[in-house]
Amino acid sequence: MSSPAIELPRVVFEAGSLSRLPVELAAYGFNRIFVVTTRGRARNLATIEKLLGQSLAGSFVDAVEHVPKSVTDMAERELRRTAPDVIVAVGGGSPIGLGKALAVRSGLPLVAVPTTYSGSEMTSIYGETDESGKKTGRDTRALPRMVLYDPLLTLGLPAETSATSGMNALAHSVEAMYAPDATVTTSAWAEQSIRLLSQSLPQIVADISNVDLRATALSGAHFAGKALGATSMGLHHRICHVLGGSFGLPHAKTHSVMLQHVVSFNASHAVEAMNRIANALGSKHAEEGITGLGRALPIPRTLAQLGFSESGITKAAAEIVKGNYPNPRPVTIPDVVQILERALSGE
Ligand code: NAD
Repeated sequence: MSSPAIELPRVVFEAGSLSRLPVELAAYGFNRIFVVTTRGRARNLATIEKLLGQSLAGSFVDAVEHVPKSVTDMAERELRRTAPDVIVAVGGGSPIGLGKALAVRSGLPLVAVPTTYSGSEMTSIYGETDESGKKTGRDTRALPRMVLYDPLLTLGLPAETSATSGMNALAHSVEAMYAPDATVTTSAWAEQSIRLLSQSLPQIVADISNVDLRATALSGAHFAGKALGATSMGLHHRICHVLGGSFGLPHAKTHSVMLQHVVSFNASHAVEAMNRIANALGSKHAEEGITGLGRALPIPRTLAQLGFSESGITKAAAEIVKGNYPNPRPVTIPDVVQILERALSGE
């Protein structure tokens, strides 16, 4: 008896691979393509329009962060009008997030062409935000059928966005390492991604057009996404989820500020995981390694820099503890208040 097929995204990873997109899509029999992207990726869209020619059924260029429901509604109307057979999301976690929401609503397959290091392309986690906050879930329809990584597409990613987006990926791996459902495989992915990201990100800042470094960071993001997709996230992701969904803070920058504070809080309750994280960072202690990496990168240091203020702490803490998520250390409201206070001032 043959074992059941496990459907994983097919991964294409090569500098210049965008030119193979039409062939790769045709191999699946897709010939009416709907592209989802952001206005900032207009140049990529123009290239894709040329590559796809008649196969391009339609596009939506207004993806924004945190997948507001109103934006998904608008994109869905355009999707239904153009009747495609596949959705191709091109860009960072924002267009990929919108592509996922559309894939879940329509049942259409999704292909992702990531241009940042969010790692979202490797997970079935999707979400939408409305007046009541951000709701996320896991759905196999949100997992891309294929992911095409072309490091050349990331050459224009500014140093700051490269750094914050890379820290977002690193945070997936840190939490995957101490997740209760971590396995030998997920921890190996997480460890590898921490190593690849922590080595490449500071070098990218100094040498922004180096394709090899970009490829290293993208593969770090790929493994981080795999680790995120296969484990349950803890307090760090919960905090960023609430601060983004209910307080409008920018996703990757919030991850960049928060990570060292949550690692410091969890350190004593996840000793083995922290040792592996530290080792992958080339540091003695995980917190020290993350703080040191942050200092080498052009990332924000405080929540205050992101527009969060003291007055939001009580409400945020109450919402953060409400969630149903695992964390190595039990979490109370005063704990979260203290973590947020530290992150607010960058103590
Ligand atoms: P993003 O997609 O909003 O991109 C950040 C900025 O970078 C944008 O201004 C964009 O135009 C620009 N940009 C993207 N690629 C570029 C390039 N190659 N060159 C120049 N500029 C470029 O942000 P992000 O950090 O990639 O993703 C954040 C979103 O992803 C959040 O909504 C978050 O919730 C989601 N996310 C989801 C998962 C998941 O598994 N579901 C995982 C991580 C992040």
